Amino acid sequence: MPVLGQHQATEPTVFAKSRPGRQSSSMPDLDVPDVDPGEALPGVALADEPPALPEIAELDLVRHVTRLSHRNHGIDVGFYPLGSCSMKYNPRVSETAAALDGFRALHPWAPDEAAQGTLALLWHLEQWLTELTGLAAATFQPAAGAHGELCGLMLIRAYHEDRGDPRRTIVVPDSAHGTNPASAAMCGYDVVTVPSGPDGLVDVDALEELVDSSTAGLMLTNPNTVGLFEVEIDRIAQVCRDAGALLYYDGANFNAIAGRVRPGDTGFDVVHLNVHKTFATPHGGGGPGAGPVVVSERLAPYLPAPVVVRDGDGDDATYRWEHDRPRSIGRLHGFHGNVGVLVRAYAFLVAHGGDGLAQMSAKAVLNANYVAERVGDVLPLGYPQHRPMHEFVATASSVKQHGVRALDVSKRLIDLGYHPPTNYFPLIVDEAFMVEPTETESPETLDGFSAALRQAIIEAGENADLLHEAPTTTPVRRLDEGKAGRELVLRWHHGDP
Ligand SMILES: *Cc1c(COP(=O)(O)O)cnc(C)c1O
Repeated sequence: MPVLGQHQATEPTVFAKSRPGRQSSSMPDLDVPDVDPGEALPGVALADEPPALPEIAELDLVRHVTRLSHRNHGIDVGFYPLGSCSMKYNPRVSETAAALDGFRALHPWAPDEAAQGTLALLWHLEQWLTELTGLAAATFQPAAGAHGELCGLMLIRAYHEDRGDPRRTIVVPDSAHGTNPASAAMCGYDVVTVPSGPDGLVDVDALEELVDSSTAGLMLTNPNTVGLFEVEIDRIAQVCRDAGALLYYDGANFNAIAGRVRPGDTGFDVVHLNVHKTFATPHGGGGPGAGPVVVSERLAPYLPAPVVVRDGDGDDATYRWEHDRPRSIGRLHGFHGNVGVLVRAYAFLVAHGGDGLAQMSAKAVLNANYVAERVGDVLPLGYPQHRPMHEFVATASSVKQHGVRALDVSKRLIDLGYHPPTNYFPLIVDEAFMVEPTETESPETLDGFSAALRQAIIEAGENADLLHEAPTTTPVRRLDEGKAGRELVLRWHHGDP
């Protein structure tokens, strides 16, 4: 079922399609005085010429953007096994809920009395998230996972400072998602790296050496970024607690454990959830995300303000924003976060129910293990000592003898009709292939993908050029991503827009 490999003729730009006088709309006759913009806006620098916008008829414009949209890959078009991104099916019920006028058209400045439905939804969503994490309270302001990390770390800082015990360091495993050390540094902390042991799990003896009275917290994701469950989580938590450090749970990988393990029960005080990965609205769909942060009782006073509260019970309950939060770290987002994504998440949770979520994570783990087994003889696990959870990280180091890299295998997968998995992450696995099928894929899709992946690895030994030249079926061949990225960074560095 190839979807990426369809050859498409080049699509000219909308400017090339422009013809003088063509238009997609007609404006009503002017019924206000015609003024000279120069006089109406004194002191504003106006261009001599109007901008050269394309002139195009509506149908031609619709065809143009529809053709362009077909070049994009999305979960509604095909399998998307991008590890660490949980690219699962986004149920239509979530979209329907988010499109309801009462949510969609609500003005962010609406008074609480006029926003009762949205406030009730957020309050109930908080109940779901605290129940799922085993914690006490939540904020919905963070706009994505990394933003949630910053928020959670600011809460940890506020907590320690409030106790007159400011601490300097955050400990992060070497397998962590890159955003973890970045968020800690952005929050003003020194980052200390704890190594993984030979089995891919945190080296707890090394952790014991590193954690002391200057440690503000440990940032951990569990299952960790090589897809393995930290079986020594109780000891890890104990080491941190004994030193007065807090435990931060990076919940972007919550798909593996939702409805089965609660971070709060394993000693964590703060969790961010990527609802745009775990609960509908797949991350990478290009739209907004939401990274709610859920905390224990002792961190709740510091949550960003306002928080949603309920007065009364049952049918008489009313909801309001509570702004008076003297120990709050302040605001992290305009208004109340990306509420549309939160509505989708709520619809997802209600549609599945608690037992549905437990089934979801079981199937996510099953699907990952199924693919790992199917490809294991040609693409072995980076850390085979433990069974992977919702994703697996395999090593393609065997293809290096043929002058082929993991990236070449991935590019070949495009020609075979599949979006590649994540490559070269985490950094601790050589030629890493990180595959996360998610729970929403059928056995047929998993079989098709596994066969394509096997084929690409086998071809590396038989016809390496096929891989070096891939992809050959896409409108654009290989991009020099490294070079383009470096140039972008340099332009920013020099202050160019
Ligand atoms: C995706 C991810 C993040 C970052 O989330 P964003 O929403 O992209 O900011 C952080 N940690 C882990 C483990 C992730 O997979």
